[in-house]
Amino acid sequence: MRRQRRVKIIATLGPASNDEAAIERLFTAGADVFRINMSHSTPEQLRDSVRMIRAVERSHGRPIAALVDLQGPKLRIGTFESGGIVLEKGATFVLDSDPAPGNAERVHVPHPEIIIGLEQGHRVLLDDGRIRLVIVDSSLPGRVVTKVEVGGKLSNRKGLNLPDTVIPLPALTPKDYTDLEAAIDAEVDWVALSFIQRPEDIAAAKKITRGRAGVMAKIEKPQAVGWMADITEAADALMVARGDLGVEMPLERLPGVQKQIVRAARRAGKPVVVATQMLESMIVSPMPTRAEVSDVATAIFEGVDAVMLSAESAAGQYPVEAVGTMNRIAEAVERDPTYLSVIHAQRNEPERTGADAISVAARQIAETLDLSAVVSWTSSGATALRVARERPDMSILSVSPLTEIGRRLALVWGVHSVVGADAHDQDDMVDRACRIAFAEGFARAGDRIIIVAGLPLGTPGATNMVQIAFVGGDGNA
Ligand code: PEP
Repeated sequence: MRRQRRVKIIATLGPASNDEAAIERLFTAGADVFRINMSHSTPEQLRDSVRMIRAVERSHGRPIAALVDLQGPKLRIGTFESGGIVLEKGATFVLDSDPAPGNAERVHVPHPEIIIGLEQGHRVLLDDGRIRLVIVDSSLPGRVVTKVEVGGKLSNRKGLNLPDTVIPLPALTPKDYTDLEAAIDAEVDWVALSFIQRPEDIAAAKKITRGRAGVMAKIEKPQAVGWMADITEAADALMVARGDLGVEMPLERLPGVQKQIVRAARRAGKPVVVATQMLESMIVSPMPTRAEVSDVATAIFEGVDAVMLSAESAAGQYPVEAVGTMNRIAEAVERDPTYLSVIHAQRNEPERTGADAISVAARQIAETLDLSAVVSWTSSGATALRVARERPDMSILSVSPLTEIGRRLALVWGVHSVVGADAHDQDDMVDRACRIAFAEGFARAGDRIIIVAGLPLGTPGATNMVQIAFVGGDGNA
């Protein structure tokens, strides 16, 4: 089974889709990666979802990636004596460390470290940014006084966002540690970290994953945008998490910040995902809006690795239609006569490494000779990532002997990933590459392909070989 597009589709699982038949339908409609959101899942549900994803993978014989999205330090206020209050514009409202239920004058903020980090002039956003406060006095221990800039109804445990404050909290909460252990035990392929602020937050997660899953940094705080270069270097992939990012910064800045994040990831050759509200209206409607179609198309024209569905596939009324719509948009964009020239115009200079020099050469040779496919023979996935960084015109076929690498590459732009037995030597590799390209429908008898690999075989990151090969009548070299 072969997709007719390069961009990948991530579908979030949830009540609308969390059974094997539904996962099967989403995969058939076009989902390449399934996301399990730990804000709404237990470790038992995580294990169950992974088991079902693997069952669908077995029945289709195609690697599918499982992405576990950790909740992270999502901040919330405490409760109110009456369950809720109304804040009037211009009123004074206190945030404090007193666990007693709140009232119209004050409310508890359950993390004392946060109160310490707040300073005069910092903004406090409540209930997904619907209510805005500004701190007018932070001189007293255990409390800050705020003035209401935008008022409204506020009820128990609503979310709290602090766009101006570096929060002295680690990116992994005790719940995240438990969920991360469960994710690693279940052998998931990607772990996404929520509300990271600094590159150190990624290092903390990598100490636990130790290469057993790729670590994706969700960029959803302005502080993380400020550390973009270091976070891109530390992470294995990035996500433009526009939901919370749009709460913490003015909405009109989101498109520009999306471009900055996508460019940083593409320069580094790391996968990048654009997420949230991509087909939001399809939660309740079988048809997207024109603006949503255009938003998905813009991300695809930016050359992102994957576009993501959240509530559309997790809790909406039309999960399969939402995936099918994304699939159709992607196919149409990539067939558009402007697509390749837009992608070519975004190409990055190669980094001064052997892997990049070889990948650029392979792309140029493949384009000059109009070859059918670039085959990357990869043990760690690094060679396939560098080839994908080049965004070549022809298909990228990646062959890895490791199932977990085959699955991880399911997220990556243009990569059709195959898990196959390792080769004995270079001749064997070339022969196998030709047979796989033939069997998977990427080359016909008489076509030529180009193979990129690192020799000796099995040396991660040692990309140093490029070879053109003829595909014979029976698929052999
Ligand atoms: C987001 O905020 O855009 C996001 C993807 O995170 P979550 O769905 O966990 O809120």
